[in-house]
Amino acid sequence: MVEKTMKAIRLNAPNDFEYCDIPVPEPGSHDILARVETVAICGTDPHIFAGEFPGFWPKSFPLIPGHEWAGTIVQVGEVAKNLGWKEGERVCGISHVGCGYCSMCMQGRYTLCLNYGHEEKGHRQYGHYSQGAYAQYIAASVKSIARIPDTMGFDVAACMDPFSIALHAVMRSGMEPGDSVLVNGSGAQGLMSIMIVRAMGAGAILTSGSGFRLQVAERLGAITIDYRKENVVARTRELTGGLGAKRVIECSGTPEGVRQACEAVAKGGTISMVSLPSKDVEIPIRRLVLDEIDLRGNRANPNTLEPAIAMVQENNIDLSSLITHAFPLSKFAEAFDIFVHRKDNSLKVVVKPND
Ligand SMILES: [Zn+2]
Ligand SMILES: [Zn+2]
Repeated sequence: MVEKTMKAIRLNAPNDFEYCDIPVPEPGSHDILARVETVAICGTDPHIFAGEFPGFWPKSFPLIPGHEWAGTIVQVGEVAKNLGWKEGERVCGISHVGCGYCSMCMQGRYTLCLNYGHEEKGHRQYGHYSQGAYAQYIAASVKSIARIPDTMGFDVAACMDPFSIALHAVMRSGMEPGDSVLVNGSGAQGLMSIMIVRAMGAGAILTSGSGFRLQVAERLGAITIDYRKENVVARTRELTGGLGAKRVIECSGTPEGVRQACEAVAKGGTISMVSLPSKDVEIPIRRLVLDEIDLRGNRANPNTLEPAIAMVQENNIDLSSLITHAFPLSKFAEAFDIFVHRKDNSLKVVVKPND
């Protein structure tokens, strides 16, 4: 039996959240109700918490944020049952649910759903404007979940959302075996991108960054470029026989980083954006035109959750090495502070709503 109320983190206004009791959500017919075992704090969360997307993420307050989650199914809606979902199954989730009917959804590009933001038309984005996962339970559409292997822990499974985002960006870079790759930025998305391009057979993997995170990149097998001490573009060219990197995975999100990506990429190469810069950035468009550089935007993780799980599982990718801190949900404020201020060499910080 599922209780009637649960503990959750509720965002009442910008920069104003509390650990409180709220009703357990009712799963719709296409939903499951899951007991949330782990939620990973996402790099987008601090921006949502700070109210940087007024009227959009969230559309209105209060919001239960959180979207990188894993847990156990405890209740199954009618249609979800017909689709084969069962109580007791271990799953992980992503934030996007397309309406399923618009032309973008019909093409499988459901993160670009034309009915974005309209819950009455079946769209959801958990933890952004729809009720999310910083809670003991989440009601989630079966379109947004995937089963996880018995041997995959919930903490790693909660990181499959960001991992599958990095996978989408790498796939959209068109990387082929042996290609030189610059992963520009060594935060969680950058480090996961290194893991992915390695598993996909990249040639030289270069990574820019600094400090502890760059050391982790080195441990993962990347050739490191400390952007505080070295010129990222010059160093990339030096390490690629003067050509530049065939594929650049842009994970820095800074104006400087984006411009470096445009200069460090090889003729005929590709820049695939994981980062979302907070403002528009001036780019050397003439260079991109004359050297036939493809610049690709990427929105989240359409259809990459299951491949991401298989990739981690079958290649023994050690995602747990990126999880530096774990807290019960009751200590969310502490977890959030450590994550936001990158204290204590934090990378992925997870919270456990049922501990
Ligand atoms: Zn996320
Ligand atoms: Zn749609």
